[in-house]
Amino acid sequence: FMAKIPLLEIRGLRKSFNGVEVLHSVDLTLEKGKVTALVGENGAGKSTLMKILMGEYHADAGEVFLEGEKVVFSNPHQALSRGISMIFQEMSPFPELTVAENMYVGREPHKFIFIRKKEQRKMAEALLERLGIHLDLDRKVKDLTVSEMQLLEIAKAISYDSKIVIMDEPTSALTDSDVRILFATISNLKKHGVAMVYITHKLDELVQVADTVCVLRDGNIISSRPIHEVEQNVMISEMVGRKIENIYPRVEKQIGDVVFEVRGLERRGEFHDISFTIRKGEILGLAGMVGAGRTEVVSSIFGINPYTKGKVLLNGEEIHIRCPRDAMRYHFAFIPEDRARDGLNLVGSIRSNMCLTILKGVSRCRGIFPDSKGERDCTARMIEQMNIKSNSQEQPVNSLSGGNQQKIVVAKWLLTQPDIVFLDEPTRGIDVGAKFEIYQLIQELAKEGKAVLMISSEMPELLGMCDRIVVLKEGRLAGELLAQDATQENIMAAIVKE
Ligand code: ADP
Ligand code: MG
Repeated sequence: FMAKIPLLEIRGLRKSFNGVEVLHSVDLTLEKGKVTALVGENGAGKSTLMKILMGEYHADAGEVFLEGEKVVFSNPHQALSRGISMIFQEMSPFPELTVAENMYVGREPHKFIFIRKKEQRKMAEALLERLGIHLDLDRKVKDLTVSEMQLLEIAKAISYDSKIVIMDEPTSALTDSDVRILFATISNLKKHGVAMVYITHKLDELVQVADTVCVLRDGNIISSRPIHEVEQNVMISEMVGRKIENIYPRVEKQIGDVVFEVRGLERRGEFHDISFTIRKGEILGLAGMVGAGRTEVVSSIFGINPYTKGKVLLNGEEIHIRCPRDAMRYHFAFIPEDRARDGLNLVGSIRSNMCLTILKGVSRCRGIFPDSKGERDCTARMIEQMNIKSNSQEQPVNSLSGGNQQKIVVAKWLLTQPDIVFLDEPTRGIDVGAKFEIYQLIQELAKEGKAVLMISSEMPELLGMCDRIVVLKEGRLAGELLAQDATQENIMAAIVKE
């Protein structure tokens, strides 16, 4: 009798950076044809663990066994040559090469010293075909969309005939249809016996892809179970290290009169005849597919791209917002979807970012000078109130996790004491702990009597957070539902109805 040898076994792995241990004796086992999901808050050590496995970092202690044989990789090349590949979140470094060239860069099929371009192209074509990925082989990588680049990276990783493929948040930049392609690719690879590690913050994806779920918290494996034994609440509690009964916290609150209204809003070519209201203390959800015009409507109200027809009313009176500064004077806040582009100065400090809207002279906070005591106090209060994990107010925001960055964007707007708050995909790309805190904040805003409008593509989030949901489809209203009547199915039905 011989015990079954796992495909890969990690035992007692330890790693410190600058004297701080971030992985404490981690064990992990991967099986042939199985997907192991690795979940945990930002900073838990997921990427570090995988980079050690790939030979990019060196462990301080512990062992790795590949099919029972002890292996030590000093660089990713060695890992690749033994059939372990990783899809990196970072994009391809060869923007001028075509898709086909990129796939085989550094290992082109040769004849003497000449690269056999035709053969290379054929190989690439066959691979994409097998994976069900449609990419133009002759397009330059710099001309691909983010989603297409990600699919290329995936194809590339798989092209090494890998036994193990590691995916670190592969869907964070993918569109819905590309996510489906990826999932189909994953199940295809499983049939071929490939083991995968799947790192994600999107817990709803797990049931679709994972066989086993491992929770990593502060460098320790907290649990490892088959997916069908995993309860989401338990998993989330394990991830954040405290009990969470309901990830969508509801607070007792009063819903008052209509404070905000749009009537027949139009911006030609983008959206038409949009009418809705928001009451004091209400959270209104805006549902729809990517491209349905949700962001366009909200940024138009906020004065970024003016509407060409229709009215915006505040407390029953028509107002004219021509630019974001006007919107701020009316005490509107807009937390945009793309933090890196619109929400933050990434190289700036926490304090300079938080106080940016104040500096623009929004009336309620006027008269505060840069780096004054007033600014320092505001920032300290927000860091405390929002539980932002940082070393100092001077820390540049690009050194923080996505969740903490998002909290800074929210904090920046809260300092303007808004009455009407628009949030566009407020939890995209952030981990569960930070998500929960953002949800609590949104509920608190509503409780304080603010009118909240929230765009989200995550249906459970809309259902969990909103009092009422408006559905947009191809730039038009396609339905309105009260939260108590809304289900994932009837929202979906409104989104797709002809
Ligand atoms: P996760 O991928 O789960 O978000 P990481 O593995 O990136 O977590 O990080 C785990 C911990 O190790 C964090 O505290 C992070 O700051 C630290 N860390 C990661 N990489 C480095 C590095 N190259 N230098 C110093 N500290 C690092
Ligand atoms: Mg990571």
